[in-house]
Amino acid sequence: MSNIPSNLEQEILRLKREQNAVILAHFYQDAEIQDIADFVGDSLDLSRNAATTNADSIIFCGVKFMAEVAKILSPQKRVLIPDLKAGCSLEDSCKPAAFAEFKKKHPDALVVTYINCSAEIKALSDIIVTSTNAKKIIEQIQADKEIIFAPDQHLGRYLEKVTGRKMILWNGSCIVHEQFSEKELVKLIANHPQAKVIAHPECPESLLTYAHHVGSTSSLLKFTEQNQGAEFIVLTEPGIIHQMQKRNPSGKFYDCPFIDQAGCKLCSTCPYMKLNTLEKLYLVLRDGNKSEFGGELMMDEALQIRAKKPLQNMLELS
Ligand code: SF4
Repeated sequence: MSNIPSNLEQEILRLKREQNAVILAHFYQDAEIQDIADFVGDSLDLSRNAATTNADSIIFCGVKFMAEVAKILSPQKRVLIPDLKAGCSLEDSCKPAAFAEFKKKHPDALVVTYINCSAEIKALSDIIVTSTNAKKIIEQIQADKEIIFAPDQHLGRYLEKVTGRKMILWNGSCIVHEQFSEKELVKLIANHPQAKVIAHPECPESLLTYAHHVGSTSSLLKFTEQNQGAEFIVLTEPGIIHQMQKRNPSGKFYDCPFIDQAGCKLCSTCPYMKLNTLEKLYLVLRDGNKSEFGGELMMDEALQIRAKKPLQNMLELS
């Protein structure tokens, strides 16, 4: 990586002003990226916030499917990503051709899809949901209507439980939320008996049974804010602990590791989210499409229009 200035943060802010850009950082980004961003949040909130600005460009520090939502909601703005390789295991677990075949087997079903999927999958869906609004939206669907839920099987199972509604589940999953070690979680609980376990519903049911609070990233953050000074065992990507600690400075936060096949303890960070760095953010601002790692997200206009419809359905129902 060449020619990175020593006053990196100042240069990022200068380029951002020059280009009338807005910087978005997902909760799972590194702390230094969160601290330089104009907005920090979950993927939908970030895209909606960016759409309200008069910025010409959006620099999306997150993963590709999130940047696609930003483009769909702000089609006139350029959307750039610091590292174009920032994909998502959950998105990869639901490929459009296979999903179209799956849909054919259930022609009468309404397709309800979690926002963590590609624009192609969104375009094959009837309604998009987030982990915040999924319950509310599913409860509004006619009781005798068949529902396909994709792509996250664990979120789907959790929603079946909280809504009492049986759904046809696509068997996708997120490598981060699926791999927290239950054995390590039990150890953490034993070592910190006062700690509240908070979990994202992308975690398997076996882990959710330990949780005092289950919710979206925003909901987990709010829960920690409401319990000042408490201890928390956090079952979601640990990048969010930066915001939790800022909003609850006397709180104590413990993240739960993975155990790999060799039996080594590994930090449970998302390898896709962590592809973005402050240096790559600087490079994409400086070099645009000529950047070594990042560049502009290019999206077919017809796809944007098809993927927007189920997003609009979500906004109406939530
Ligand atoms: S944490 Fe999971 S769902 Fe989120 S971007 Fe990473 S792989 Fe995808």
